[in-house]
Amino acid sequence: MAVTMDLDRHDFELDDLVARIKENDHRLVALQVPEGLKMQALEMMDKIETETSARVVLSADPCYGACDLVHDKMQNIGAELVAHMGHSQMNIDSGMPTHFIPVTYDGSPEIAPVLPYLHAHREIAISRMNDSSGPVLSELEGLDRFEDMVGRVAPLTDTKLGLVGSIQHLHLLPTFKDHFEQAGFDVTIPIGGARLSFPGQVLGCNYSGDDPTVGHYIFLGSGDFHPIGLVLHTGKPLAMLDPYTGEAKEMGKDRIERILRQRSGLIMSSMDKDRFGILIGSKPGQMRRNLALRMKRKLEKHGKKGFLLAMEHVGPELIDFYPVDVFVNTACPRIAIDDAVKYAKPMITPYELEVALGEKKWENGYRFDQIH
Ligand code: SF4
Repeated sequence: MAVTMDLDRHDFELDDLVARIKENDHRLVALQVPEGLKMQALEMMDKIETETSARVVLSADPCYGACDLVHDKMQNIGAELVAHMGHSQMNIDSGMPTHFIPVTYDGSPEIAPVLPYLHAHREIAISRMNDSSGPVLSELEGLDRFEDMVGRVAPLTDTKLGLVGSIQHLHLLPTFKDHFEQAGFDVTIPIGGARLSFPGQVLGCNYSGDDPTVGHYIFLGSGDFHPIGLVLHTGKPLAMLDPYTGEAKEMGKDRIERILRQRSGLIMSSMDKDRFGILIGSKPGQMRRNLALRMKRKLEKHGKKGFLLAMEHVGPELIDFYPVDVFVNTACPRIAIDDAVKYAKPMITPYELEVALGEKKWENGYRFDQIH
């Protein structure tokens, strides 16, 4: 579903784009925008065409991230530059000049509504950290003491508040670090790996800034997409503050447990199956061919069949008809996590396949499928 944005309160940095187009005298420029901006894209194309001598082509295929760069298609069309909105550059080479525009939102919410969640979460972090002092007398006691929200034994070394956000709100982080520090929290803005461009940035498939000094998180952004991934990956309590509405809430344990029960059910129903379709995403930032080949070898080792299916967009109508029992998804990790119910057959992640094959133990805690 396309959600429209309040254009007046977002900065699309069109003047910079227009200046770059003029400077290079580009004649054909491609525009790639996320689904929420598709409706407004025509207005932007009009503005660019009025202010420059370039013609603008909209890449009208779905776009959900910077993993999905349309360089090859737009090169075929003859575009000299791709303007990619709403995401930041990843550690992939687009193969042609690409102008990334993060699209920032000017709203800045009050922090008061989120403080009760943060106080409660800090208590959880403090008790997890204090429990790690002193000897552990039994395996069961160890589990009790250190276990996080996804069932992993992961001792903390500090109880800092990790301040993260989605790209539209990252410019708020330095100011909000001050706000939360004034409210008495020890705040850190985590710096992740090469897939992320900015401190405090999170993607649906990458939370690599996490470390044992962070005891709990505050996410500036809207929707559950990033919060679900962040908790599945870190196992830590997470409060959310939405700059669009000013509302605060938390990603509850019950929600995460429901997701884990669903994942466990899908793993169980994959265990006795013999024919697996292994999906390879052909978008540049999702392509994990080696992982897919590794999963195929694992299946063969267990006397099962794995069929490699490469595709750009993954959807039930494109794969449900194949005569396989289960799909193992190596494309965007969120397809298996968020869309599993749309598919007629179980859709599992590579880690979940390893659990189904008995090579990894569910009891050791859930492992989120992250792309680095
Ligand atoms: S792989 Fe998925 S979660 Fe990661 S950036 Fe792309 S669309 Fe987002």
